[in-house]
Amino acid sequence: MAEYYKAKRSYGIFDPKSNQPYKLSRSKLDLFLNCPRCFYLDRRLGVGQPSMPAFTLNVAVDALLKKEFDVHRARQTTHPLMAKYGLKAVPFMHPNMGQWRENFVGVQFLHKPTNFLVFGAVDDIWQTPDGVLHVVDYKATSKDGEVELENTKWHNQYRRQMEVYQWLLRQNGFEVSDTGYFVYVNARKDKQAFDGQLEFKVKIIPYTGQGNWVEKQLTQARKCLMSGTMPPAAAACEFCAYRQAAYEQEHKPAPAAATPAAKKKKAAAQSARLF
Ligand code: SF4
Repeated sequence: MAEYYKAKRSYGIFDPKSNQPYKLSRSKLDLFLNCPRCFYLDRRLGVGQPSMPAFTLNVAVDALLKKEFDVHRARQTTHPLMAKYGLKAVPFMHPNMGQWRENFVGVQFLHKPTNFLVFGAVDDIWQTPDGVLHVVDYKATSKDGEVELENTKWHNQYRRQMEVYQWLLRQNGFEVSDTGYFVYVNARKDKQAFDGQLEFKVKIIPYTGQGNWVEKQLTQARKCLMSGTMPPAAAACEFCAYRQAAYEQEHKPAPAAATPAAKKKKAAAQSARLF
């Protein structure tokens, strides 16, 4: 097990005595919102959840979409998909675009009240002729029917992700619209055969962000890390339910050894069943 999972990390741990800014990613802020206990275990004690396998197909889709929109960024032209949805915009041209898209770098802002250096890597940013920016996130899935933004755990996380990016860009002095866009690609399963290729339906889903929660939650996250006590766990979490069930099984008393009288009784019951 130790070969795959490092139980105690020694880097990226919050030190309550330090005056240095603490780097906090958008995804770790989301971890705090999902479960303060897991956030505390990870950021304060260095015990993170086991990693998940990489979503390599989604990563491939992201990379290709970036290349495709970059062609229009270089020419400052509207992508046909944007035109199809009536959007008068072009991909935003800015010298920091590469950095803003880079994992572990992203758009950054030092939030002085918490001393958190908050960061998150955007997929894209579009700009309308009035100079206003729109955050864009690429998403890939494969489901029957139309893709919509639903009231699910994952889609709520996508909404928050968009809102943090909008907040970060605003803190960097840009004028950012509340309206962001999800470029959602949906792999078709209704084809006759695979034939070495996936075909996607591509859709733009607008979303109106409401990021007024971000600063308050940064403050709460800071309080959590400073507290020195383990916060409560999330009410519904498969990991903890699994941990609890495994613990109970491991600590269950072993069944008592059968006595000679019980063995005789069991044998008699079995032979009665045979006849
Ligand atoms: S409830 Fe889930 S998220 Fe929270 S500490 Fe347990 S495993 Fe982590």
